[in-house]
Amino acid sequence: MTGSMAHPAVLILLGPPGAGKGTQARMLEEDFGLVQLSTGDLLRAAVAAGTDAGKRAKAVMEAGQLVSDEIVLAILKDRMAAPDVAKGVILDGFPRTAGQAAALDALLAANGQRVTAAISLEVDDEAMVGRVSGRYTCAGCGEGYHDEFKRPAKAGVCDKCGGEGMKRRADDNAETVRERLKAYHAQTAPLITYYEGKGLLQRIDAMGSIAGIRAALSDIVKGVAA
Ligand code: AMP
Repeated sequence: MTGSMAHPAVLILLGPPGAGKGTQARMLEEDFGLVQLSTGDLLRAAVAAGTDAGKRAKAVMEAGQLVSDEIVLAILKDRMAAPDVAKGVILDGFPRTAGQAAALDALLAANGQRVTAAISLEVDDEAMVGRVSGRYTCAGCGEGYHDEFKRPAKAGVCDKCGGEGMKRRADDNAETVRERLKAYHAQTAPLITYYEGKGLLQRIDAMGSIAGIRAALSDIVKGVAA
């Protein structure tokens, strides 16, 4: 839908860990042909590959703190240079600091672009600890599951691709989630005000069903990027 636009959409999903940014970004990929760009995924790939950036990021991520802007921006710029980004992007987990938001504005401005919209997924913190602690994903296709809220039809087998490898993130435990929530409120939540000031903010109540949130997001994306 956005593939041929001169200025591809740049959508930002804001929200604490567990708000559903990754799940919803994957759905926006399916529904609108946009590309999900998750700095968390890029960092986990760097850790797994043992790159210099990955080595520097690993302990910070395991502690639930934010990786330095320098590392994150280098990884993001690299990814933004790939050709598929021309389809339009959903930024999931980026920007997370005022410095990253300013750097994103500058990066886009250099190409005559700007942020299309920032969508804040609004949730209760306490519920997030339970949501994040029980989650896991298919190692093959990335489909997300949860011990309580979304089990596969057959235990251990992915509904989507039939894969049998499931994985849990090292930082998805109650203690680290609380640190990640603190980092969110201290460093990322101020970006809600930043984008509100630019007239780019949309808020969604993200305590409801995955399908309901998907529908609300679709309406927003149709309004700004279709
Ligand atoms: P996420 O997958 O978005 O929950 O990110 C997992 C972890 O990766 C975070 O807790 C941070 O340690 C790190 N991380 C991901 N994105 C960023 C970012 N934009 N800035 C700083 N750290 C990040």
